[in-house]
Order: sequence, then C-alpha cells, then structure tokens
Amino acid sequence: MEIRIIPLDKAVDERAHWLVRLRWIAGAAVILFGLVAALALPEMRVVPVIGVGLAILAYNVLIHVGLPHLGPKRSLHLQILLDWLALAVLCHITGGLDSPFLPFFIFHVILAGMLVSRRACLRHGLIAIVIISGMAMLEYAGFYPPIQLPGFLPSPRYDNLHYILLFLGSFSILILLTVYLSTTVIQHLRKGEEKLMQLQDHLSDAYDGLRRADESKTRFVRIVSHEIRSPLAATQSMLRVILDGLAGEASAKVVDLIRRSSCRLNELLGLINELLDLIRGGQPVAEEEKQDIPLEAVIRKVTGDLGAHAAHKEVRLEIQLDSQDAIFRGDSQDLERIVVNLVSNAITYTPEFGVVKVTGRLEPDHFYRLEVADTGIGIPPDERPRIFEEFYRASNAKSEKKEGTGLGLAIVKVTVEKYGGRIEVASELGKGTCFTVRLPVISLAS
Ligand code: ADP
Repeated sequence: MEIRIIPLDKAVDERAHWLVRLRWIAGAAVILFGLVAALALPEMRVVPVIGVGLAILAYNVLIHVGLPHLGPKRSLHLQILLDWLALAVLCHITGGLDSPFLPFFIFHVILAGMLVSRRACLRHGLIAIVIISGMAMLEYAGFYPPIQLPGFLPSPRYDNLHYILLFLGSFSILILLTVYLSTTVIQHLRKGEEKLMQLQDHLSDAYDGLRRADESKTRFVRIVSHEIRSPLAATQSMLRVILDGLAGEASAKVVDLIRRSSCRLNELLGLINELLDLIRGGQPVAEEEKQDIPLEAVIRKVTGDLGAHAAHKEVRLEIQLDSQDAIFRGDSQDLERIVVNLVSNAITYTPEFGVVKVTGRLEPDHFYRLEVADTGIGIPPDERPRIFEEFYRASNAKSEKKEGTGLGLAIVKVTVEKYGGRIEVASELGKGTCFTVRLPVISLAS
C-alpha cells in the first residue's frame, strides 16, 4: 500500500481545489433536482431552484479563476461562506425550516471541519446558526415567507414560534456538536499524518545512509581486492619461477612448501576474482556499453571451454540449444559469468559418469530459458533457500569438495536480476539439480 503524504501548505491548496471540484457536482445536482422536480411536481416553482444551481456554478467559476490570486486559505473561507448563503437560499425556496436541503448544513460543517482549523470551523458553524436563525425569523415575521414544496407537508410550520425556537435550539446544538466531533477526528488524523511525515523523513534519511554505506562498502571491497590482486599475482609468478626450477636447485621440502603456498595463493586469487565479479555483476550496465550478443554462441563457447573439466571428471556434457537467433542485449562478460558458474558447478557437483545437460530455448514472451541440469549430489531441501547467499555452501557440498567460495551463485543471481531476469532451482538430494535462468531477449536476429 502506498501512503501519500503531502506538505501542509500544499495540502491546503489541494483542499481548496477539491472543494471547487466538489461544487461542480453540487451545482449540477441542484439543477438536476430542479429539472426532475419540474417533471414530478408540476406546480412547484423550479426556476428559483435552477437559478440557485446556476449561481453555485457561476461563483465556482469565479473562485476557480481567482484561486491563484486569492490564495488557498482565504479562498477556502470565502468558498464556505458563499456555500452557506447558497444553501440558505436553497432552503428558503424549498420550504424554509421544512426544506429537505436543511441537513446539508450538517454535511457542510463536516466539510469545513476537514478543510479549515477548529477555530475557523467553529466560526463557520456559528455563521450557519446565525444565517438559519435569521432566515427563520424573517420567514416568521412574514418578510420572506418560504416557498413551500407542494404536496410535501400539509401544514407548513414557519409561523409556529414554539416549533421554530425548538428547531433552532436543537439545530444549533447539532451544528456545534458536529463542529466538535468532526474537528476532533480530523485533528487526530492530522496528527497521525504529521507523525507519518516525520517517519517518512527518518526512513528516507536511513535509506540514504544505508545506500551510501553500501556504496562505500562496495568501493572499499573493490579497491582492496584490486590492490591485493596485483601483489598476489606477482608473488604467484615468482613462486612459479622457483617451482619450475628457473631460480636454481631447491630442496624437496622447500619445493613442497612452495607448492602448497602456491595452491593457497591460487585459492585467494580465486576468491578475490569472484569478489570482483560479484561487484561487477551487480553494477548496472550503461546503455551505450550494451552489445547485441548472440546468446547461444556464448553458451556454446563457454561450455566448450569447460569440456576439458567435464572430460577430466568423466562427466558427459550434453548441449541442446534450439534458438540460434536469440539476441541478448548487455555485457558479454555478464552472460559468460552466468553460464560459467552454473555449468562449472554442475560438473563439480556431479560424480563420475554422471550427466550435465545444458538446454536453451526462446519462450514466446521474449525470454530465453536456459536450464542446467545434472545428475549430481543435489541440495538438501532445508538449505536450498540459502544457496544464493554470499559465501553460503551446503553441507553436502562442503564435505564433497573442500574448496569453494560460495560466491558463484550469488554472482549469477545479481547478474541475472540486473537484466530483469530470474533464477530458480529444483533439486533432489542424491539425484540431481536443475537451475533455470530466464533472461530477457531484446531483439531477434533475422
Ligand atoms: P561454491 O560452488 O563455490 O561452493 P556457489 O555459490 O557456486 O559456491 O554455490 C553455492 C552452493 O550451492 C554450493 O556450495 C552447493 O552447496 C550448492 N550448489 C550449487 N550448484 C550446485 C549443483 N549443481 N549441485 C548441487 N549443489 C549445488
């Protein structure tokens, strides 16, 4: 659910406009009432009613035009005042204190409670009481006898002083009660709204802080990884020189120690490269850097490169790609990272004589579906939800293969999602695993 919170002065402006919009409906409704009454009550004098409807529309036009000059606050008060007068006239020409429009005074007090401050609403409520009392008294005194709705009430009551006083007393109490209730409710709502606004400010500050922290963490990891990688690679090549005997004779013990150091260095270099891949995988690709890449050509190349790994493990690698003309728009290295990680994992976690099957096809909704299925060790069901987390390795994988960073699938996931794709996994422990990637295909080669 979206919560829209508006700053206060903008809210007053919106309320002023909202009241103008509401009045178009009110004016039209009064005219419609007049027209319907003309048909249903032929003896009724509808011209004054339609006249009031037209007057409402006319002053609404003036308010609509003058709103920017008047300012929202002043306009609101003027609007409410004009509405009281229009309503009083409407009541007068439709039966005075017996008018069916009288309850609209209450409705208008509620509206005022929503639109202006409690004090201003009380003022408007008192104005309404004065207007109605004045109208009743003038009608009673015979200055302006109300125009009766024919056939509604057998005996009009505008000349019954007791009735008038009783009516005005209860009407006034009702108006004041409505002022109190509506402004109390609105005040509560406004307080809640203010609190929400403050909360929203805090939340967006916190979000900005988190984003900045995340960015600086990513920058830090990238810089450190780059800085560490170069001396490590240099050390690695020096160790190679010793191992290859180019630096002279070394004792068997020294060679063994250096070989072990070289292995550890390799692991460290692998981890750093994967960390850098994870950062690159999550970074958006600028539109001008994107290329149109024949998707299946990349899959064939990558699986071809991994053929030796599969052959070494006596794992059969089957490729079935059905949509040669699928074009992926993006960074080719991103695409390679996705395929390398999935296929090399499948080979790694499949025992000898197993099968790894890579299938790909274009789907009607312009997504390419790549499946990498194996007959390997599978993933324990309770650990499945965590395998896309950074550094997470399932328990059976750890006992099967000591080395591993737990970063490969995290790289695949961020990369796939960066392009608006999805990755899913289905697995049966001890039987095999199937990863399904759906990537959007931007265009098709002819
Ligand atoms: P790594 O392979 O370095 O451990 P990944 O991020 O590539 O890290 O994989 C995370 C974990 O997901 C692996 O440790 C393993 O438990 C599980 N996994 C990934 N691919 C497969 C697969 N094809 N078969 C079984 N388990 C897999």
